Amino acid sequence: MNARSTAGSFERAPDQWHTLRPDEIRHHLQTPHGGLPEAEARRRLAQYGPNRLAPPKRRGPLLRLLMQFHNILLYVMMGAAAITAVLGHWVDTGVLLAAVVINAIIGFIQEGKAEAALDAIRAMLSPHATVVRDGHRREIDAADLVPGDLVLLGSGDRVPADLRLVSVHELRVEEAALTGESLPVEKGTEAVAADAPLGDRYGMAYSGTLVVYGQAKGIVVGTGGATELGKINELLTGIQALSTPLLRQIDRFGRFLAIAILAIAAATFLLGTLGRGHSPSEMFMMVVALAASAIPEGLPAIMTVTLALGVQRMARRNAIVRRLPAVETLGSVTVICSDKTGTLTRNEMTVQRVVCAGHVFDVGGVGYAPVGDFSVDGHIIDTDRYPALSLAIRAAVLCNDAHLREDDGLWRVEGDPTEGALLVLGDKAGFTRNVADSDWPRRDSIPFESQHRFMATYHRDADGEPWIFVKGAPERILDICTQQFDHDGERPLDADYWRRMATDTAAQGLRLLGLACKRAAPAEDHLRFADVEDGYTLLALVGIIDPPREEAIHAVGECHRAGIRVKMITGDHAETARAIGAQLAIGIGKPAVTGAEVAIMDDAALRRVAMEVDVFARASPEHKLRLVQALQDDGQVVAMTGDGVNDAPALKRADVGVAMGMKGTEAAKEAADVVLTDDNFATIAAAVREGRAVYDNLKKFILFMLPTNGGEALVVIAAILFELTLPLTPAQVLWINMVTSSTLGLALAFEPPERNIMGRMPRPPREALLSGFFIWRVVMVSFLMMTGALGLFLWEMEHGTSLETARTMAVNAVVVAEMFYLVNSRYIFAPVTNREGLTGNRYVLAAIAACIPLQLAFTHAPAMQAIFGSADLSVIEWLKVVGAGLLVFCVAELEKLVMRRARVAAAEGPA
Ligand code: ATP
Repeated sequence: MNARSTAGSFERAPDQWHTLRPDEIRHHLQTPHGGLPEAEARRRLAQYGPNRLAPPKRRGPLLRLLMQFHNILLYVMMGAAAITAVLGHWVDTGVLLAAVVINAIIGFIQEGKAEAALDAIRAMLSPHATVVRDGHRREIDAADLVPGDLVLLGSGDRVPADLRLVSVHELRVEEAALTGESLPVEKGTEAVAADAPLGDRYGMAYSGTLVVYGQAKGIVVGTGGATELGKINELLTGIQALSTPLLRQIDRFGRFLAIAILAIAAATFLLGTLGRGHSPSEMFMMVVALAASAIPEGLPAIMTVTLALGVQRMARRNAIVRRLPAVETLGSVTVICSDKTGTLTRNEMTVQRVVCAGHVFDVGGVGYAPVGDFSVDGHIIDTDRYPALSLAIRAAVLCNDAHLREDDGLWRVEGDPTEGALLVLGDKAGFTRNVADSDWPRRDSIPFESQHRFMATYHRDADGEPWIFVKGAPERILDICTQQFDHDGERPLDADYWRRMATDTAAQGLRLLGLACKRAAPAEDHLRFADVEDGYTLLALVGIIDPPREEAIHAVGECHRAGIRVKMITGDHAETARAIGAQLAIGIGKPAVTGAEVAIMDDAALRRVAMEVDVFARASPEHKLRLVQALQDDGQVVAMTGDGVNDAPALKRADVGVAMGMKGTEAAKEAADVVLTDDNFATIAAAVREGRAVYDNLKKFILFMLPTNGGEALVVIAAILFELTLPLTPAQVLWINMVTSSTLGLALAFEPPERNIMGRMPRPPREALLSGFFIWRVVMVSFLMMTGALGLFLWEMEHGTSLETARTMAVNAVVVAEMFYLVNSRYIFAPVTNREGLTGNRYVLAAIAACIPLQLAFTHAPAMQAIFGSADLSVIEWLKVVGAGLLVFCVAELEKLVMRRARVAAAEGPA
C-alpha cells in the first residue's frame, strides 16, 4: 500500500482505528519499528499539512479600527464635535475630530503591535512531541507530526495528536478535555468494538488529553483538524485577553474621571454664563474645549502598550508570560520558591564518587565526555578487579533510559541528565550501553517518577538468568535491601555504614543515588511495584555533582537586596540541598526541613517554619502546595516554580506560577503564569525586575498625564473664576490636547528599568495606585502648569502685548512646560538632572523633537495663524516661554528633593 492509499483509508475510516490491533495499525500506516524515515515524514507533512488546529477567527482590521472609537472618552469628544458643527464652529469641529482620529489610529497601531507581540509569544509556547524516527528518539515541534509517526508519551505530556497505542506502561490519561470525565482512564493496547464510545476506547490516546501517569508508545492516526479535538475545534491553551486587574482599575478610573470632568464643565458653564455674563455660545465652546482637553483619552491605549512592551521585554529575557496579570504581580513578589535541579544548578551531572561496601571510589573527568579514571585513595585502579563496582556500573547502565551522543566532539545527553551521568560513568569503565543492552536485554521496566523516587528494570543475562536492577533515592533503596555486595559476595546489610556514607557524601553537595539488584524474575514476567519491595542486594551509592549556576548565585544576591526571600524546594536529599543552598547563599546556617517533617506539621506550625526555613528537601508536590498556602497566609506574595504534572496545583495556587520551558511538562506549563524558556533562576529575577519596571512606567505615565491635562483645564477655569480675559481660545485648547496628549506620554512606555529598581523593597500588593502622594503630585504640577502659562499671559497683557501674541505665548508655555515635565516624569523620586536622566530614553527626546516643529508651525505659519488666531513670537518672547517651562521643571525637581529627604527621615524614624 502506498502512502496515498494510506491517506485514503485515513480519510475514509477515521473512526475505526480503535478496532484495529497494533500490528494492523503498523501495517496500515506503514510504520517500521524504528519509526518513520525522516524523508517519508517530510513527504507526509507536505501531504497532510501541519498538526495544528485552525486558529480562531480574528476581528478584521476595519472592525478593529472601528472598535477604537468605542470608548466613552472618545464618545464625549465626538459628541462635542457634533455640537460644534451644529453651531458652525468648523475649526473646533475639525480639531476635535482630528484629535479623535489621531487617538483611534494610535490605539489601532498600538493594539496591533501588542497583539503581534502576544502572537510571537504564543508561537514560543508551541508544544513539543517526542517521536522515534529513523530509529532515533527526537524532540520535534508537535505541529510537524504526521500520520504514522511513532510517538512516546510520558507523565505530564499533552497528547500531541490522536494516537493508537502500541505499548503502554501503567498509562493513565485524563480525558476531561474531550469526554468531560475528570477521573483519569487507565489505558491499554487492546482493540475495542467499533461502536465503543470515546471514553471506552482504551487503546487510543486523543489529542489534547493529559497523561497523568506512566509511559506509552503510540502511532499517530490523526493530526490537526482530523483529530477528535479538531472536530470540536476547541483550542485548549492560549493567552488571555489584553487586560489585567490594574488595567481594569484604570479603566474604571478613566470613566469616573470623564463623569467628573463633565460635571466640572457643566459647573463652569453655569458659572460663566449666569455668574460672569459670558455669552452661552462662547461659554459652550470653552467648556467643550475644556472637557476635551481634560479627558485622558489616550489612557487606555497607552496602558495596554506599556503592558505589552513589558511582556515583550520579558520574552526577550526568556520569561514568557502566559497570563498578563502576572506582569503586575511579579513586581510585588516577596518570596520566590525555586526548584533546585536545573533551575539553581546547571543540570550537568557528573558522577564523582561511587561508594561500595568497604571501598570509596573517586571518578575523574568533567561534563559528559567519557574520559576519566577511577581511583581509591589517590591510586588509579582497574574496575574489573572490583566485582561490586563492576556490577554497580552494569546496574547503572542497564537501569537507564538516557542516550549519549557525540556531535563534533561535544558530548550530549538525550533524556534525564542524572541517567546521562551514569552512562558516562559506564563508558569510563569501558561498559557502553549498546554492549550492555545486547548482552542483557531488557524485558520490562518501571520508569522513574518523582513520586516514588526509583526506577527498576528487569533483564535476562547471557545465560538466560533473570535480574532486576533498581536505582533511586538512597532511603528508598535501603528500605528494600537486606544484603549488600562486597568483595566476597553477598553479606547481610550494614545499614549504619550506608547511612553514614550517604550523609557524608550529601554534605559535600553531591546528589545521591542508590543501586541495588535481585537475582529473580518478577511474578508473571512483568515488573510491578510489588516486585520492588524487599529482598534486594545493595551494590553502591553514587555521588553526582551538579554545580550551582554562576548567574543564579548573582540573581539570589539581587533578590535578597530587593527584599525578596529565596527558598529552595527540592526532591533531593536534605544534606545535598543544604550544601548546595550554602553555595547559593540560601538558608546559610539554618536547618533544612524535609517533606516528611512538613507532612506532620499542622498549618500554624508550618506557617512559622515556612517563613523561617529556606531549604526544603525531599519535598513532593503536595508539600509545595501547603508551603505556598502557608506563605500566603502569612501575607507573602509567592512565586513558585515547578515542572511535573503534580506541580500544577501549587503553580495555580501561587501568586505567580513559574514553569520550566525545557524540562517542564505541558501540564505544568499550562498551569503556570510564566514559562522560563531557559529553566534558569536568574530569569525569574530578571522578570521580577521587568515587572517592577512595568508598574513604574504605568505610574509614571499617569503622573505625567493627569497634571498636564489638569494644568490646561485649570488655566481656563481660573480665568473664568477670576473674570480674566480667556488666555486660550477653545481651538487653541484643542490644539494643545491634540499635539501633546497621546504623543508625549507614550514615550514613557519605553522607559527602561531604573538603576536601583532591585534596591527597593517589594511594593505592597494592595497599594492603591492613586495614593495621597499621587494626588499631591498631580495637584501640585497642575498648579505649576497653570501658574507658568497664566502668569506669563497676565504679565504680557499688563505690559501691553497684543491679545493674539499673549495667547500664542500661553499656548506655547503650556506645551513647553509639558515637554519639560515629560523629562521630570522619567523618575518619580530620583533627580533627572544628570546625563542619564536627561538623555537616557531616546523616545522621550524623539517625542519632544516631534512637538517642536508643530509648535513652530502653529506660531509662525500663516495658515495656522488664520485658523488658530496665533501670532509670530520674537526671540525674547520665545525665551520667556521656555523660561515658564523651566520654572515647572525646576520646581518639580525641587519637590522630588524634598520628598527624598522626607522619605529618608521617615525611614530613619524619630531620633
Ligand atoms: P528538584 O525538585 O530540585 O528538581 P530533584 O531533581 O533532585 O530536585 P527529583 O527529580 O524528584 O528531584 O529526584 C528526587 C530523588 O530521586 C533524587 O535525589 C535521586 O536520588 C532520585 N532520582 C532522580 N532521578 C532519578 C532517576 N532517573 N532514576 C532513579 N532515581 C532518580
